[in-house]
Amino acid sequence: MNKPIYMDNNATTKLDSRVFEEMKPYFTEIYGNASSKFYETGRKAEAAVADFRERVAKQLGAKTNEIYFTASGCEADNWAIKGIANAYKEKGNHIITSSIEHHAILSSCEFLEKNGFEVTYLPVDSEGRVNPKDVEDAITDKTILISIMTANNEIGTIEPIAEIARIAKEHKVLMHTDAVQAIGHMKINVAELGVDLLSISAHKFHGPKGVGALYIRNGVKISNLIHGGGQERGKRAATENVAGMAGLCKALELTNAEIDKNIEKMTALRDRLIKGIRDNIPECRLNGPENEDRLCNNVNFSFKYIEGESILMMLDMYGICASSGSACASGSLDPSHVLLAIGLPHEIAHGSLRLSVSGETTEEEVDYVIKTLPPIVERLRHMSPLYEG
Ligand SMILES: *Cc1c(COP(=O)(O)O)cnc(C)c1O
Repeated sequence: MNKPIYMDNNATTKLDSRVFEEMKPYFTEIYGNASSKFYETGRKAEAAVADFRERVAKQLGAKTNEIYFTASGCEADNWAIKGIANAYKEKGNHIITSSIEHHAILSSCEFLEKNGFEVTYLPVDSEGRVNPKDVEDAITDKTILISIMTANNEIGTIEPIAEIARIAKEHKVLMHTDAVQAIGHMKINVAELGVDLLSISAHKFHGPKGVGALYIRNGVKISNLIHGGGQERGKRAATENVAGMAGLCKALELTNAEIDKNIEKMTALRDRLIKGIRDNIPECRLNGPENEDRLCNNVNFSFKYIEGESILMMLDMYGICASSGSACASGSLDPSHVLLAIGLPHEIAHGSLRLSVSGETTEEEVDYVIKTLPPIVERLRHMSPLYEG
């Protein structure tokens, strides 16, 4: 068994070597600026961008001119929220989202609140589900956008997006979904979901970091987030990251081609982990749904009396990479907003651990985690002043 054992695939994934091969020529041979049309390497780059856009659109069930490349999932989310808010501000100033969105969405909404917009942050149930009825009740004649994530990155909850999108449409409100965690773990088709905008990010499905895309349905108006040159049909300036686009495109094709097999495999690994942890560690709590409403690769537990960060440090000593809900990306010591939103008290939220598998994870690796984790939890509990056991 090779170490480290990587169980943090909701944070990022390893680049697939086939994706790397697809990207290489755009660093070494076809390095021209895709906007330079007077020589061959530029024209080849331009043609490649057109080809990648078409192929990405096909994978998502979109039209070619509905795909816009970005530099990340965060950028796609920021653009969707701020770009729609600005383009439709004459129509209304109200946005509906959920309390468990990624910070790219939440912080964009908070930014808009400082600039005259009103935002409703919908609560979720104890497993992280948004109730479509709550969405409908929150709509006013000032509502311009609903943004609900397809699947949550911390606790794996899959949201009823098609149903919410239907409600949005009925009320003539635009619907965005952050599908960054969904790709690679679910089949995603924009037409079937019925959304107007959808964000993705390559590094969450074995593509490169620093490239994402936003689907924008034809007919939807959006203001620029990035101003400058005329790239992306004038909607998003920046010299095209052709190698990144190649990587996103190839990773999306591969992940979709292998998805049935991989969902089956990841689900089995996930359930083996859940069972192994439950059978071997007392006083633990699975965060997120038990059933098919859960991302096939996500496991999230709270362990009473101890801190998630201490577990991570000990796991690291055994070569296991995981993450916790106690310290978010901002480096703050507040527990995760997602765990608080599902009703966990602070002290339980602090003791949480996220393990996320990929299609490359092996049963042997899962069994190593199941063997390694219980004594770590036991040891930390014995060091905890809160533990009487
Ligand atoms: C990772 C992630 C993002 C951000 O994507 P980046 O490409 O890392 O900026 C946004 N939303 C969700 C749900 C994510 O998991």
